[in-house]
Amino acid sequence: MKYLSTRDKSLRLRASQAIAQGLSRDGGLLTPETFPTLTPALLEELRGKTYGQRAVAVMKLFLEDFSEEELTAFTQAGYAPEKFDDPRVAPLHPLTEDAYCLELWHGPTSAFKDMALQILPHLLSASLEKNQEEKTVCILVATSGDTGKAALEGFKDVDRTKILVFYPKDGVSAVQALQMQTQQGSNVGVCAVHGNFDDAQTGVKILFSDENLREDLAKRGYFLSSANSINWGRILPQLVYYISAYCDLLNLDKIQMGEKVNYCVPTGNFGNILACWYARQMGLPVGKLICASNSNNVLTDFLATGTYDKNRPFHTTMSPSMDILVSSNLERLLFALSGQNDKEVAGYMEQLKQTGCYTVSDEIKARLKEEFYGGFCDEVKTGEVIAKVWKEHNYLIDPHTAVAYDVMEEYRQKTGDERKTVFVSTASPFKFCDSVLHSLGVSQVCQGIDALDQLAQVSGRSAPAPLASLRDKAVRFEESVDKEQMMAVVLDMLK
Ligand SMILES: *Cc1c(COP(=O)(O)O)cnc(C)c1O
Repeated sequence: MKYLSTRDKSLRLRASQAIAQGLSRDGGLLTPETFPTLTPALLEELRGKTYGQRAVAVMKLFLEDFSEEELTAFTQAGYAPEKFDDPRVAPLHPLTEDAYCLELWHGPTSAFKDMALQILPHLLSASLEKNQEEKTVCILVATSGDTGKAALEGFKDVDRTKILVFYPKDGVSAVQALQMQTQQGSNVGVCAVHGNFDDAQTGVKILFSDENLREDLAKRGYFLSSANSINWGRILPQLVYYISAYCDLLNLDKIQMGEKVNYCVPTGNFGNILACWYARQMGLPVGKLICASNSNNVLTDFLATGTYDKNRPFHTTMSPSMDILVSSNLERLLFALSGQNDKEVAGYMEQLKQTGCYTVSDEIKARLKEEFYGGFCDEVKTGEVIAKVWKEHNYLIDPHTAVAYDVMEEYRQKTGDERKTVFVSTASPFKFCDSVLHSLGVSQVCQGIDALDQLAQVSGRSAPAPLASLRDKAVRFEESVDKEQMMAVVLDMLK
């Protein structure tokens, strides 16, 4: 199987080349040319396996230049019991007979980014070796919270890699800041940047495009790469849990083999929901794909009209990981829906760059309507949903998950579709204690990390161990710099 750029399909790379490169040189996203078939027989076989075994079986279909032994080693390390606090890794929580919550936050950083970032570093390190890359890769990340910590945990002490994370000094929660400041590992660096997420991200983009820096680092034996969801190595591990959830529904006797199930995904950069769409391409019996947004509802409008328009106000919400106006991975969907028409995709992306807006063809519009439903949930409603699910089901969810739950309900009411639905839970409620406590009606919310204990007390649930133990961890990284000084931080780390 070859990997193509969404903007130039004459490019044909092996899997390990696509993963080592991350982004195509033409700006396109590297994407499999074809999708292997998930036959009922294979699904039947996966039913009897553990999560790690399911991951190996699915990933090996896409990674022809990796051996089964390698993939087994990666999943055993990435999804090890020391790292995931549930042996099922991605357990399915039945809320009602029709609604099942897929919990993707049992990993080391309590957010779904772990599902992929526990595997990507191994894939990347092996890909460098397979391509005779002698230099060490340095992953640079600008984070608004979840990605930075998950990347640090994933890359910590992985051979031939270093990782440096910049976060906005005033833009992450107390828990998130402490998670990063106390990061362990010999190959990691963390630095706060004065300003907001945009300042940190702009700073990182400038570093990536600096030719002199690139040359200087090459002489020192390093090259820069990124860990965000444009890399195929981050999308692929995400296909697994959609397939795994279907197996679990079969094993629970909730569905018959072949019966279609709807999936509802809280969406930001479109990586997570795209993985589900790919699983359907492979033959997973998926009914509607429900795309849930917060007040930044650019995708809701796009799915309804076929026009993507990022010219709109940016809202800061209590589901910050979905505060995104340009969803990069949508480009991969457009590539598929246009019949792999690279020129057409490049055209849309050029318009997006020039005007912030594009309209897809009628053919694509029709496909979108058929396969997706888009909805959004505003701030007030998000809080209400957290309280309602707690009251009615005695189940605690975070704001991102609440957005998904609400849009799932809206879809059902509007359409009368009664298919069983899996809605995706992307973060532990303990990662967003303040918002959850406020939503539950607590008026005096404790400051900083004390809110963790408060939520544990109010809910009678215990906080995930890695969050609860933050209090006792030594702070290693206290540096904060102006964005003009970010280059110096990189050079200092890669001496
Ligand atoms: C990253 C993230 C999302 C959005 O996922 P995408 O793949 O960017 O669509 C949703 N919820 C949480 C908690 C996240 O960290």
